[in-house]
Amino acid sequence: MFEKTRLWLCAVLLIAALPVGAQRHEIDSLTRELASAKDDSIRWYYAIQLSAAYLRISFDTSKAYGEQSLNLAGNLGKGACKARSLNTLGATYWAKGDHETALHNYFESLKISEPGGMDLLASTTLGNIGMVYSERNDVERSLEYLRRALAKKQALHDTLGLVRTLNNIGRTFFNSSQHDSALVYFQQCLPLFDVLPAQIMGKAIVLNNLGAIYLNKKDYPKARDFFNQSLAIREKLQDKGGQSVVLSNLGELALAEGKAAESIAYYERSLALSRETGSETDRAEVWKKLSEAYAELNNHPKAYGYLLKYTTWQDTLHRRESETRIADMEVKYQTGIKEAEIAKQQLQIEREQSRQRLLIIIALAMLLALTGLFQYLRNRHRLRQREAEHSLALRDAEASRLLELDRIKSSFFANISHEFRTPLTLILGPVQKWLAEHPAVPVIDIPAKDLNGIRRNAARLLDLVNQLLDLSKIESGRMRVAVSRDDLTQTLRVLGNAFESMAEQGNIRYRIEIPAESALAWFDRDKLEKITANLLSNAFKHTPPGGTVTLHAELRDDQLHLSVQDNGKGIPAEELNRIFERFYQVEGSGDKGTGIGLALVKELVALHHGSISVESKLGEGSVFRVTLPVGWGMFAADEIVENTVPVSVQEFSGKMATLQMPQTTPEETPEDPALPLCLVVEDNPELQVFIRDQLSGHFRVLLAANGRIGLDMATENIPDLVISDVMMPEMDGNQLCAALKTDERTSHIPVILLTAKAGQESRLEGLETGADDYLTKPFDTRELLVRANNLIAQRERLRKQFSRTVVLKPKDIALTSADERFLQRIQDSLDEHLGNEQFNVEELAAGVGMSRSQLHRKLTALIDQPPVEFIRNFRLRRAKEMLEAGTGNVSEICYDVGFSSPAYFSKAFKEAFGMSPSELRKG
Ligand code: ADP
Repeated sequence: MFEKTRLWLCAVLLIAALPVGAQRHEIDSLTRELASAKDDSIRWYYAIQLSAAYLRISFDTSKAYGEQSLNLAGNLGKGACKARSLNTLGATYWAKGDHETALHNYFESLKISEPGGMDLLASTTLGNIGMVYSERNDVERSLEYLRRALAKKQALHDTLGLVRTLNNIGRTFFNSSQHDSALVYFQQCLPLFDVLPAQIMGKAIVLNNLGAIYLNKKDYPKARDFFNQSLAIREKLQDKGGQSVVLSNLGELALAEGKAAESIAYYERSLALSRETGSETDRAEVWKKLSEAYAELNNHPKAYGYLLKYTTWQDTLHRRESETRIADMEVKYQTGIKEAEIAKQQLQIEREQSRQRLLIIIALAMLLALTGLFQYLRNRHRLRQREAEHSLALRDAEASRLLELDRIKSSFFANISHEFRTPLTLILGPVQKWLAEHPAVPVIDIPAKDLNGIRRNAARLLDLVNQLLDLSKIESGRMRVAVSRDDLTQTLRVLGNAFESMAEQGNIRYRIEIPAESALAWFDRDKLEKITANLLSNAFKHTPPGGTVTLHAELRDDQLHLSVQDNGKGIPAEELNRIFERFYQVEGSGDKGTGIGLALVKELVALHHGSISVESKLGEGSVFRVTLPVGWGMFAADEIVENTVPVSVQEFSGKMATLQMPQTTPEETPEDPALPLCLVVEDNPELQVFIRDQLSGHFRVLLAANGRIGLDMATENIPDLVISDVMMPEMDGNQLCAALKTDERTSHIPVILLTAKAGQESRLEGLETGADDYLTKPFDTRELLVRANNLIAQRERLRKQFSRTVVLKPKDIALTSADERFLQRIQDSLDEHLGNEQFNVEELAAGVGMSRSQLHRKLTALIDQPPVEFIRNFRLRRAKEMLEAGTGNVSEICYDVGFSSPAYFSKAFKEAFGMSPSELRKG
């Protein structure tokens, strides 16, 4: 019975030591796992499992795996792994019965786990040490370690561990025949199974152990009770081996009670079950007990028979033991083969693995390649998309560039036509005039003044056309440099001096800084002239009187460094990089010009292999710097020509020649004050004078150089007519016209606009601002005169018409709203002061914010009534209305409308309306 109990307890112990059941197929799968594991920590885990699995099968294999796991733990450098491996090795040696080595390993493990705080492992190791001592019958030490294990299990609240340890302590006490103590521990175990429902087998073991103790204590009923409880569980679990053990114990109990027959019945049942489970030891034990029972019943033949069976078995057991030893060797041999096989398998697995790795690498490479391809395709797609977007953006940019070009072009055409039309007007004007005046003998008697004008303007036209031609030559690549050896400083000086008169006329300080000594160099004279003349004429054009223009030149290292500096109006920073563009003109500069000059300069400089730069600050001035190579070696053979013309006698035409301005002071001719007053607003001095000349004899003429001056002069003088150019600096014609038409003082003045732009659009623009007429350059001078006269006559008719009406009904007249407002305000002011006979012209003028003379000119111009007359007529008109409405008698009304004498009132009334006030009242 004790033997059996011990076996059972051992089973519990082993469960504690080996968490993994050692099944054959499990071993195979574990072996595979270990072989395929790549990670040392995983290999360690499987090595531990395998060591435990081989525990009861092969010491050597179990040991080998245990040692492998220990080595792996060393590799991993993890104390916990090492402790666990040592623990496993301890179990291996214990299973073999090598207690010393087992204890050695356990203690080594404990050395790591205890101080390392690995309490669970430490408690298990302590328990195992306790049980090894127990097996060695060293009860004292066994209990010492088992109690230490118990304390740890309690602290860890490891109930299962606690049950096992309590059971093991009970077992140790039991083995040393301390049954009471054993009872205490077994009993402590029992209630703990309530919380461990899965450990029902353990409960059956403990119940059996308790039965055994009570049997020992001869408390048979309790013993039977515990045995029966244990048996019931075994039956329920269909655990035949277990039933066989408990039945055997029950047999022993019956025998102890003296119930030999009953005992034999238990033994027979036990024997039958053990036959099924195949446990020979169990069967042999039962044979022995049966022999005892039959002996008790005095059935000696049977008793002998079972004893014989038992001893034969024992002999067999001995024989078997030696056989087992041989078999052990056989096993070892087999294991060797197995291990070799395993190694072979491992090799195969490794080969397989490397093949797999290769496959994986290939797969990865393919994946990479595919990803790369995908990326490439995606990138290409994106690139295409971006390209598409880009080209769309480019197209947009191109579209807006074309639009801009279009705008620049059309503005260029407007400008160029203006540039052409002005000189054409000045050429055609005199010619037509003289043809008209002398139809029979044309052009024989043209005064020098007119001929000069014609020559100058024809030259200007020629200059413009030449510039255009130059540009187109450059564009088509037909323009070539033709350098020759010449005196560079001399050439420049001649060039520079040509602008002196211009400086004088414009009252501009002009400094020429050119080395005095002559310097022979290689350059294209024509290009140099054009470059310098353009830069200088621009400088003079954009520099106000009082400013300074400097022409500076120096020769260094076969290079001409030329600069033209002015302290004029400067160029806005954002325009600087555009001024060299063809047809580009600085926005809103109001300048006339074509935007060709600088573009041409740049091209010419480039043709001459030079460079140009500009520096400018708005309001401070500009400096254009040109560097031109002037050494022989700088030019290609076909760019060099022989110089034949001596420098000094050459004269240049072109841009600068036309820039010589005529005097703008009007010639003093006595004027007839009765003639209508005409204001001519025109920035071209020559055209100013020309128009004035055409108008003289028909008009008194005032001249203004731009819209701003024109506006001031118009408000000041209230002219009868304004003739204005449209394109002008400061304030253009349209702006001037709008300003005149919205000012009450000037709103009545007819305006004729002169423009180079013949388009419908600019015509509309002009008419919208209230211009009364429009003339496109080049205009026939007679047409201008006719139109001017027409407008004056039209106004005259209107005035006449209104002057007859005593009181205004502004709605009847085609007036601008400013005129209406003006007349309304005058009448309001008069109504306000109707009874005040002192209210005079001064007060009325002040009331409407005008000077006396402005009011006079305005009223006379508008309705041909001087203010005094207008006031009197107004009073009379109101009196008539009152009389008709019967608001009082004649003398009352006379005072109401501001007459102090009824007699004068009656007289004036009769003059105005053809009847006396009293007659009207009666009628
Ligand atoms: P344009 O014949 O219309 O004068 P350019 O090509 O000579 O044309 O000049 C281009 C623009 O550069 C002009 O509209 C003018 O406003 C500006 N510019 C040229 N030179 C100067 C200067 N010295 N100072 C100020 N502005 C200048």
